[in-house]
Formats: sequence, structure tokens, C-alpha cells
Amino acid sequence: MGVPTQHVADSYDLYIDGAWVSASDGGHFATVDPATEESITEVAEATAEDVDRAVAAAREAFPAWRDTDPDERGRIVHRIGELVRENREELAAIESLDQGKPLSQAKSDVDGAARYFEYYAGAADKLEGTSVPVGADGIDFTLREPYGVSAQITPWNFPGNLFARGVAPALVAGNATVVKPAEQTPLSSLRLAELCEEAGVPDGVVNVVTGFGDPAGAALSSHEGVDTITFTGSVPTGQVIMKQAADNVTPVTLELGGKNPAVVFPDADLDEAARWIDRAIFTNAGQICSAADRVVVHESVHDELVDKLVARAESYELGRGSDDPDMGPVVSAEQFEKVTGYVEVGREEGATLAAGGGTPDGEGYFVEPTIFTDVDNDMRIAQEEIFGPVLSVISFETEAEALEVANDVDYGLVAGIFTSDVTRAHQFARGLEAGNVYVNQWFGDTNQTPFGGYKQSGIGREKGLEALDSYLQTKNVAINLAEGSSDSLPGA
Ligand code: ADP
Ligand code: MG
Repeated sequence: MGVPTQHVADSYDLYIDGAWVSASDGGHFATVDPATEESITEVAEATAEDVDRAVAAAREAFPAWRDTDPDERGRIVHRIGELVRENREELAAIESLDQGKPLSQAKSDVDGAARYFEYYAGAADKLEGTSVPVGADGIDFTLREPYGVSAQITPWNFPGNLFARGVAPALVAGNATVVKPAEQTPLSSLRLAELCEEAGVPDGVVNVVTGFGDPAGAALSSHEGVDTITFTGSVPTGQVIMKQAADNVTPVTLELGGKNPAVVFPDADLDEAARWIDRAIFTNAGQICSAADRVVVHESVHDELVDKLVARAESYELGRGSDDPDMGPVVSAEQFEKVTGYVEVGREEGATLAAGGGTPDGEGYFVEPTIFTDVDNDMRIAQEEIFGPVLSVISFETEAEALEVANDVDYGLVAGIFTSDVTRAHQFARGLEAGNVYVNQWFGDTNQTPFGGYKQSGIGREKGLEALDSYLQTKNVAINLAEGSSDSLPGA
């Protein structure tokens, strides 16, 4: 076993209907500390039968939760946020251990998680419909009603934060939820479920089934008793989930990958651009769907920007998340193989390795901050999401070329522009095929701003009030005020 911490139990059960229960076949799997490659603890491995139980519990709990006074629902959800803040150190320690990220980044994720509960709590009693003018003979209005059971299938890069991003709006809208966290990082979701209970969320309204994509995730996304699915993860898995959902005509909200361009013009403040881009590719060891994976820089400032980025990359100290280094390991052996494989691909494709590329000796899934220059946008390292600390730098001559390169990928999640010309920034932002555009900054989205992808980067929006649309369906009610009007029904 790895180094035990005060926050981690010897083993964990599934959280279903407000109770901790073992998997139907008693199965467990280990979750690993990516800095040591050792098992942290054992977690129950949900079967399809367990998913059935969780969905049934959510179905059963749903009507009473839906009918709870909205202000009361809001208070309970706000209380979750308060408890997340009160347990900040513990939640961050768990996340850092299980996922590998530096402790300070884990704390910032926890703060963001608390914010989701606080932000959406205030919306609980403001989910208003509209009244539609239909003339003197009728009254027509809309109600915004919850779907029922919301399935949340979450990834391993921001496990606790993304639990909050989905569960908070789902609950506020009056849905019950079943969460299937990623198998690499189940621990923070289990602790958050406990906090939901402590905050007063009724039994069955939040359920957590730890387990693998197949069978647990697949059982959830193909379940007849699930009314809406929220998924964050890779494009291939998103496609599988969408196909499974189609059999039940279940709506999906998908937040998938990115290959996000940071476009740097000659009039940009290069120190600032380098600072943002560095943060945007190496935070969380590059395992962020909205990372700046591609720098698209004007040839006249290419060398100067690259020098600054290389200096930053080379100053990184790698270490175990709990020691709060500059950068932790990547999450798993599989991810380590994938990322180092792409470094090899970049070399073979003829790109120039300007920084990093190596892996430190010793245990742990560590990859150095890596920068490739002389990248052509047709190369795989410019087209495919690496999801690691690997940056591809592409140079351009004209603004039209910059836009073409920026958009010439299957993805369209986020994009950034660095320039001091405000007109150019606005014009370029219009041309970008991306759900979020950052100007002279990166990660400009907040809990309040809608977030999601164009093209293969997804369907629907997380965050902001717009995210509530994924958790509410519209019912229109038409009331007749005219007597004898059935005599004059409209013809077919
Ligand atoms: P990665 O390949 O980087 O691990 P995924 O997109 O496959 O990322 O995983 C994101 C989430 O989707 C995880 O919770 C995972 O268990 C789940 N998942 C994987 N495969 C499936 C599937 N076929 N059906 C439903 N969920 C799945
Ligand atoms: Mg782990």
C-alpha cells in the first residue's frame, strides 16, 4: 500500500440511496497514487446491477425532491457549498493524492467546486417560465420542469470540481443524480457525496457508483431509467455514449476534447502572452480539455516567444502533488504511455524538440514540460489531443493564415488571442470556431460563463445559467377561456 493519509479509509463502498453498500458481486478495484504507482485504497467496483439499484433509488427519490420548495432546495445546495469550503484542506489532499495534481491547484479546484454550489443555489427559486400572449380567449404559459434522473459521467482530470459542475445545477433544477466518477480518481466524489448528505440532500437524490467505463458507465448511459446524461471526457467515449443514449432518446450534454490555439500577434505583450500560455499548457500537467495545446505565433515574434516559453518550461520542478511542486505526474500508466508516445510521434514527424521530451528516472508517471517547434498544422501533434504537458508551436505570416490554422482541427472548444489591437481582437474572435474565446488571458471562463464546444468538442453548455437548460425541460400549458370554441376547431 502507498503512504496512508489521515483522509483515506482502507476501502470504500458504493453510495446508493443514502447508504454505503458493497458491489453486488463484492468486487473492488485499487485507485493508484500516480506519483508512486502504488495503490492508495480499494473502491467498490459497480456492476450493471448496482447501476440499476442506483437509478431505481434516484427515480424513487425524484418526485419529492422536485416538489421540495425551491427556496429550500436552494438552501440545501448552498449548504453543500459551505461544507465544501469547510472541508477544503481535506478535499484538496484527497484529490492531490488520487489524481497527482499539485496541492495548490487542488485547492483552487475545491474553491471552484464550492462556487458551483453557491452560484446555482441562488437560481433554485428563479427558474421562471414565460407567459405567451395568445389573445383574449386563452392563457398560455410555460413551466420549466426537471427531467428526472440525471446521469453524470465524469473524467479524471478535475474529478471533484466536475462533480460539482454537474451535480449543482442538476439538483437546483430538481433532478436526482447518479454519478459515475472516472475509475482513476473516485475518492473526491465519494467524499462529496458524504457532504451532500450532511447538507441535507435526501436519500437517493445523489448516488455515486464507482467503477469502470464498461460495465458501470455503459450501464448508466444505456439505462432506460436515466432521463438526461452529462458526460465530460474523450471524443470516442462521447460518441459511444451518444449512440447508447439514442436507443432511449435520452438527451446528452457532452464536453469533449480540444486542440486549442493560442494566437499571438506581433503587437502582443510577449511576456504576458508567455506567462498565460505557460499556465495554459502546463497546469494540471496539461490534462485540461481547454489547455492551450497549440501556439500559433507570427513569425516576427516566434523566436522571442519560444525563448520565453522554453525558459519557463525548463524552470519547472516536478514532484508529488502533496508536496505542491510546479507540476505533478500525469494521472495513470495509460496516460503516461499515451503522452510519451506523442512525444515520439512529434520527433518522427520532424518537429523540433525545444524543451523537455524526457521522463525523470524513478517511480511515478512524470513527463517533463515539453515544447515542439517547427510544427506543421497537418502533423498529428497539431491535430490530436495529447492531454499532457506537450505544446506544439506553429508560425504564421498573415492574419488569414493564422485564422485558417486556428480553425483547421476537428475540435472547437476554446481559443485565445494575444494582441494589443482591440479591433483585431474582436474581428478575430468572430472568425474563431470555438465555444470560448479568451483575449489577452487564458482560462477566462468562470462558474458564471457558459462553457462548451463547437464542432467535435461537444454538445450543449456547462457553467453559467445556460447549463440549467440541460437539466430542465419546457412544458407549455394552454388554457381555454372561451366558451363554445370547440365548435370551431382548426382544420387539419
Ligand atoms: P479516458 O479515455 O481519457 O480515460 P474517457 O472519456 O474514456 O477518458 O472517460 C471519461 C469517463 O467516461 C470515465 O468516467 C469513464 O469510466 C467513462 N466511460 C468510459 N467508457 C465508457 C462507456 N463505454 N460508457 C460510459 N462511460 C464510459
Ligand atoms: Mg488515482
